[in-house]
Amino acid sequence: MKKCSSCSKQFPKEILKTMVQIIDRKAYIMNVCPSCQSIVNNNPNYYYLADEKKSK
Ligand SMILES: [Zn+2]
Repeated sequence: MKKCSSCSKQFPKEILKTMVQIIDRKAYIMNVCPSCQSIVNNNPNYYYLADEKKSK
């Protein structure tokens, strides 16, 4: 289980999406749960990692 960086709830690692948040030109790795993904999709400071799709 890992913590969602946005809502701080615990989720299985598989369903958390690794995203990058840009704050003051620095990149921070965020683990975002499905419900928070719909929120951060509207936030231009968040980016999906390009190579995340086929990591297995
Ligand atoms: Zn969340």
